[in-house]
Amino acid sequence: MIKSYRWLAAAALMLAGTAAQASPWSDASSPAPGPAEAIGKPAAGCLAGAATLPLEGPGFQVIRTSRNRYYGLPENVAFIEALGEKARVASIPDFYVGDMSLPRGGPMPTGHDSHQTGLDVDIWFNLDAKPTLPAWAREDVPLPSMLTANAKAIDPKLFGSRQVALLRLAASFPTVDRIFVNPVIKRALCQGVAGAAVGGRSWLHKIRPWPGHDEHFHVRLNCPAGDATCVAQAPVPPGDGCDATLDWWFKPHQPNPAAGPHVPILPAACRWLIAH
Ligand SMILES: [Zn+2]
Repeated sequence: MIKSYRWLAAAALMLAGTAAQASPWSDASSPAPGPAEAIGKPAAGCLAGAATLPLEGPGFQVIRTSRNRYYGLPENVAFIEALGEKARVASIPDFYVGDMSLPRGGPMPTGHDSHQTGLDVDIWFNLDAKPTLPAWAREDVPLPSMLTANAKAIDPKLFGSRQVALLRLAASFPTVDRIFVNPVIKRALCQGVAGAAVGGRSWLHKIRPWPGHDEHFHVRLNCPAGDATCVAQAPVPPGDGCDATLDWWFKPHQPNPAAGPHVPILPAACRWLIAH
């Protein structure tokens, strides 16, 4: 009896492992029809009427295209394309675009809790000059951390004026709500690394500290005006964020009990959207 329960437990684990690899969301190969709508929250939602980001354009190249995560709200595609244009004008080499959302958004089997509603995009900090590679050659490109080996400081050989300029450009878009970077990077920006404080630090308002995010930054757009199904996050607190809320990340603290793996409860509209 005990043996068979063990076997059942093992089988359940294997099934759980299989479930993590594929889901109706990662199996969906095309956007859901209809007008573009973010439905729910970035960590529990989905996406109707997604726009597709071209796999390359002036100033950017999409990487890891085999993941099929280059979909988003039209505002997100427009943001990335406009950022690419502005980066070109500023003589910043091409940036790599990582995950946006799956064709219908929803939970991803690997990599993220958010990115579910078409409002999110990961942009990599590697701003070395690079040739335009064919998409198949962009599965495995150098994506170095910007931090020193002990992760206590930025590596000034890697993180410099190009990265600051691209973050500054991204933050300047009114459609951008917030940008997540590693707390060490936020602290370096507060300290004025590579001209980050020239003209003042008010632009750092949107730059939010979050673990990870030392190889890439994560841009989240505002819910578009009139998108009634899009659930906005609490607004970014006022100020540049170069304060005790940033210092908190560098003190010993308990892990947030709300963090960690969780199964999101999706809005009913998402269950309908993925079934049709
Ligand atoms: Zn991200």
